[in-house]
Amino acid sequence: MDQRAALVTGAGRGIGRSVAIRLAEKGFHVAVNFRSSEKAALEVCDIIAAGGGYAFPVQGDVANPEDVRRIFSAVDERAGGISVLVNNAGITKDGLLIRMKDEDWNSVLTANLSSVYYCTRAALRGMVRAKWGRIINIASVVGLIGNPGQANYCASKAGVIGFTKSVAREYAAKGVTVNALAPGFIGTDMTEALPVEAREALLKQVPAGRPGTPEDVAHIACFLASDEASYITGQVIAVDGGMTMC
Ligand code: NAP
Repeated sequence: MDQRAALVTGAGRGIGRSVAIRLAEKGFHVAVNFRSSEKAALEVCDIIAAGGGYAFPVQGDVANPEDVRRIFSAVDERAGGISVLVNNAGITKDGLLIRMKDEDWNSVLTANLSSVYYCTRAALRGMVRAKWGRIINIASVVGLIGNPGQANYCASKAGVIGFTKSVAREYAAKGVTVNALAPGFIGTDMTEALPVEAREALLKQVPAGRPGTPEDVAHIACFLASDEASYITGQVIAVDGGMTMC
């Protein structure tokens, strides 16, 4: 495992940050992608280095196919390709459908779904050649159950789930697994931006009685990235304190 490298998109903050740090603890070399949070991404690399791991920052907007090409050539140069891809980057632009702007629909679909397509396509060739690969897509429980005010976000995450299952079927016999995690209510900047009433209403739906932490998600991502998870593919694993149970 020492030789394997992972790319985590949007790894400067939130869930991606925890996933990057935990993967490094497991022995992966980690490419820490960020779009604008350079300081945060450098901090993640420092934390990994302080723990004896190897990480490097890679700037790029994963919603932009040119940037994705640039990210992958930088990762090839620094790490000699990747064995694990964690498609984590994501945004919200909430609003009731009647008032939704086309730009808010399009930007969420591009950032959350097209990015997964661009990065997965770029990562697959090397994984197939190596006959070993792990693709972990961070979806959401709302991609399964929907959420008022988030039609764009829910559509993007439901798209990620369908994409995950299709690509899992295409590459299951090639040693590449493709799975999705569906976090529920996790304490990050994304949920911090919600009004207090919305956060309280969400918490009422969580049987565990607490918000999840980025680490709760990172532990499962690390398991899916491991050799032990080789017979799990095309799955959607909810990390939601019992919120969905479907
Ligand atoms: P967050 O704290 O808002 O962090 C989002 C991260 O995504 C940031 O590092 C950001 O990078 C990056 N990002 C956004 N657009 C990007 C782009 N176009 N290119 C590269 N990086 C980009 O969010 P989070 O809560 O950790 O969410 C991480 C993932 O989990 C997302 O896919 C989200 O939809 C999903 N999720 C979160 C929850 C939750 O409750 N928090 C629940 C379900 C699913 P910069 O700062 O550099 O822009």
